[in-house]
Amino acid sequence: MSKTAIVTGGSRGIGKEICLRLAKDGFNIVTCCTGDASKADATINACKEFGVDAMAVAADVSNAEDVQKIFDAAKEKFGSVEVLVNNAGITKDNLMLRMTEDDFMKVLDVNLKSAFLTCKVATKDMMRAKYGRIINISSVVGLMGNAGQANYSASKAGLIGFTKSLAKEFGAKGITVNAVAPGFIETEMTDALPEDVKANYMTQIPRKRLGADIAAAVSFLASDDADYITGQVLSVDGGMRM
Ligand code: NAD
Repeated sequence: MSKTAIVTGGSRGIGKEICLRLAKDGFNIVTCCTGDASKADATINACKEFGVDAMAVAADVSNAEDVQKIFDAAKEKFGSVEVLVNNAGITKDNLMLRMTEDDFMKVLDVNLKSAFLTCKVATKDMMRAKYGRIINISSVVGLMGNAGQANYSASKAGLIGFTKSLAKEFGAKGITVNAVAPGFIETEMTDALPEDVKANYMTQIPRKRLGADIAAAVSFLASDDADYITGQVLSVDGGMRM
């Protein structure tokens, strides 16, 4: 029987790549995005090309009712959820003195509280099934910090502590919980950065190129081969942080 993966924020960027890769691996895919679910149509159609089923739900991952809606839809269509990838994320960059409380809290809500909400729902059924794979998409910035991203780096560092705590709570229940920490990956999120900022990043990356390899790392951590790996942070950053 096919397994099912929920990947949050799959309408574009890294989330879309993860959906496609897990579909190629044979998982049915449930994704979500804010606003109109049709924004994820391209992802859903591309997943189905791999012979699996896929669906999108319009949901804000920082809202508990919306999160429940994603899981209800997934369970109604596919029966169970074996893999959860917390990928949806936002930035609201500013230097500390200019950062508003609202921008700080909004980023924490979407990037960190969301994982609390999804994992709270996911782990109940995963515990019963004695099987689960949870993968949280953190960031190199959560490991290194970054000027102008106090909110974002706090959220991504928080995800790492959250990941390790859940790994300890659920290890004996057959659930692994890991984080992937992407470096500088080419998506709409990084397209928005000024050229001088991008050039400066490049000087810090030993592999001397932008990354595009997050989905492969997620695929491995979602696989049965990764059964003895939990509580880890897998950096996929071209050596930016070592
Ligand atoms: P992106 O902005 O291209 O896509 C983000 C996705 O999340 C979209 O599908 C969007 O609809 C969804 N989303 C945003 N807010 C949401 C909400 N409240 N509820 C539901 N869905 C929501 O971003 P990306 O560059 O693909 O990044 C994906 C993840 O990888 C993020 O967590 C990001 O922090 C992380 N990351 C990205 C990079 C990079 O270089 N792009 C580096 C490190 C970490």
